[in-house]
Amino acid sequence: MNKKYDVIIIGAGAAGLMSAIEAGKRGKIVFLIDHSTKIAEKIRISGGGRCNFTNLYSNPSNFLSNNKHFCKSAFAKYTQNDFIDLIEKHNIEFFEKKLGQLFCNTSAKEIIDMLVKECIENNVNIDLETKVISLSKTENEYIIKTNKGTYTSKSMVIATGGLSIPKIGASDFGYRIAKQFDLKVTDLFPALVPLTFEEKELEFCKSLAGVSLNASVKVDKTIFNEGLIFTHRGISGPSILQISSYWKSGQPISINLLPGHNMDIILKQRRNETPKQTLSNVLADYLPNKLALAICNKFLINQKIADASNEILKKLSDFVNNWIVYPKGTEGYKTAEVTLGGIDTKEISSSTMECIKHPGLFFIGEVLDVTGHLGGHNFQWAWSSGFVAGQNV
Ligand SMILES: Cc1cc2nc3c(=O)[nH]c(=O)nc-3n(C[C@H](O)[C@H](O)[C@H](O)COP(=O)(O)OP(=O)(O)OC[C@H]3O[C@@H](n4cnc5c(N)ncnc54)[C@H](O)[C@@H]3O)c2cc1C
Repeated sequence: MNKKYDVIIIGAGAAGLMSAIEAGKRGKIVFLIDHSTKIAEKIRISGGGRCNFTNLYSNPSNFLSNNKHFCKSAFAKYTQNDFIDLIEKHNIEFFEKKLGQLFCNTSAKEIIDMLVKECIENNVNIDLETKVISLSKTENEYIIKTNKGTYTSKSMVIATGGLSIPKIGASDFGYRIAKQFDLKVTDLFPALVPLTFEEKELEFCKSLAGVSLNASVKVDKTIFNEGLIFTHRGISGPSILQISSYWKSGQPISINLLPGHNMDIILKQRRNETPKQTLSNVLADYLPNKLALAICNKFLINQKIADASNEILKKLSDFVNNWIVYPKGTEGYKTAEVTLGGIDTKEISSSTMECIKHPGLFFIGEVLDVTGHLGGHNFQWAWSSGFVAGQNV
């Protein structure tokens, strides 16, 4: 026999849990399912285990989407302050790390426990290890066949997230459902992801693996000024993760390893002031030692600065202030924090998250073409879109 619910939510991650809580508060009979063995695995691993659960300054300019206005309505209905109120209600202690990024003092598990507690209080039925075999629609309801039985509901919410980190449950389910219901999906790319290099640049990066500094990175007109770290595969760190969402294969990236300083002017001054110092020693006054030496080795120049021509100084300063790289690619969905792109927002009502062509079918969270910057914005989108769907199912 079919079990009937008011609302079935597929995907017990950040967005699915939030929409389940809100629908439950409205007295709806809610069934929240997930194919994984554990709930909200991405929350657990997020923010280095402490979950950067929102950002004090989150606003629509922190998001990429074919329709930049789409997220506005949901953000107006459920803000970062609303989520902070929820956290405070549950006495979860948190701190601002930097740039408005809020993290739990102790563990991301506190966020999961809070959401599960809210689900229980609002009579949400949760079932894990439930695999959807098919999803279909009749005139009045949606039907899912699963490995555990057949269930029907008036509202069906797809909250299955993006493609990143498949080993903890990510799947293309949402995109497949979109195609089945004839909804457009934009091109998908791994984003907030480290960049990889070809052999030549890779040698340089490998020799510096672990070295980090502040850098300003630029693609077209988009610039991020945050940390950069050299890795065995290329470059990573917040500035690189951020720019990866804007970078397309084949494009150059300009990296300023000493933002706010003109290295050419500095080197010429130092040639007068400290003529006996080697170039690498001079560079090391501004950059990590290892990097200073690696740059000089790269150009096979490490004489006394007094003996360096203007041309040599220019070569070094160009590299420091405008290192142009052509990444081979990214580390892909294995390490990406998010999927860039998703279900085309033209298909969805921004004020309800309901599918325009298919009343009763809702999409929320990362599965939609709304992708946040690094820094708690992606969770804020999950909370806001989940809240809105929960109010409208
Ligand atoms: C390593 C890492 C760190 C991150 N850190 C942060 C951070 O600190 N701050 C931040 O804002 N964002 C962070 N993010 C991004 C953030 O985790 C996601 O944007 C957010 O979790 C998206 O929420 P969601 O509910 O849409 O999807 P998810 O949280 O991914 O949830 C989707 C759920 O659907 C389930 N599912 C998938 N397919 C199926 C299926 N076929 N059947 C049933 N269930 C299915 C999955 O098991 C999962 O539980 C991080 C991401 C990663 C990978």
